[in-house]
This record gives sequence, structure tokens and C-alpha cells, in this order.
Amino acid sequence: MVLQTVAGTTIGEDADDLQAWIRVLAGCPHVTHTMLTRCDNPTHGEDERPAWFYVEGDARNGVARRRCLSCAVVKPMLDSNDNWTFPPMWMCRGCGQSIAEIGIGAHAETTSDGPRVTWLVVGLRCVGCGTVDGLTDMLVPHLTLGEVARQI
Ligand SMILES: [Zn+2]
Ligand SMILES: [Zn+2]
Repeated sequence: MVLQTVAGTTIGEDADDLQAWIRVLAGCPHVTHTMLTRCDNPTHGEDERPAWFYVEGDARNGVARRRCLSCAVVKPMLDSNDNWTFPPMWMCRGCGQSIAEIGIGAHAETTSDGPRVTWLVVGLRCVGCGTVDGLTDMLVPHLTLGEVARQI
């Protein structure tokens, strides 16, 4: 883990650093699982699913969607399209460009059916300069981890 903080900005070297940053977020539900968003368009091979996206999100309304840099398919996270507010594209505070890796932190509660996710947070890492940023958090209607992974 090579998280550096420079003038209040956290810099991550890779997607592992992004997930490490998400795991220790304070002032929110405890993050029990992290995952990295990858494009699920079947035109990508199973072993080469891209992880670089343009991202739009609105933290006040808890909506987000991402567009794959490689295939341009847009996908809303969870039910974001139902409440879409047309937020501007995310832009890195460090260097001004807009391509990011997306890390998801999930809070799952233990139930008799296994872990159920009730909340998640979306974190971004700029692929240009490594600046790590929070995008939004979202309430999740008790989905399994697998269901969440397919909808982010
Ligand atoms: Zn794609
Ligand atoms: Zn940047």
C-alpha cells in the first residue's frame, strides 16, 4: 500500500491503493468488502475487461454511471437511471482529466442467506496523476455481493 498524501490530496499508485483508501473511510458505515468495477460488455474477453471509465455522479442524490473508455457503453450503477440528475462528468482535482478507475466499498450485513449489502460508496482513482477521490454513496436494497458486482 503506497498511499501518499500531498497537500491534502491522496495519491494512489494503482487500483489496490484505491481499494485500501476505501476500506479506511471514516464517518460512514463500515466497509466490509471492496471491488473494482470492470466493463462487462461481452465484446471484451473475460481476461481483458477494461477498468478505465468516464464517470458521472451526484453525491446529493446518490446516483452514478460510467462509460467504458474502450467500448463507450454507458452503464448506470444500481437504479441510478430512475433518479438521474444529469450531473457533470467527474474531473480530477489534481490534473483536470476525466478517466478514472472505479473502486466500490460495500457494507454488508450478515443474514441467514449470507451477506446482504445495504450501502456502498464509489471511489475513483485518476489514471493520469493517481489522485483518489470519493464520488458518491448509495443505499442498496439488501442485494447479494454478486448482484452488486453485476450492477456497478
Ligand atoms: Zn467496455
Ligand atoms: Zn489526475
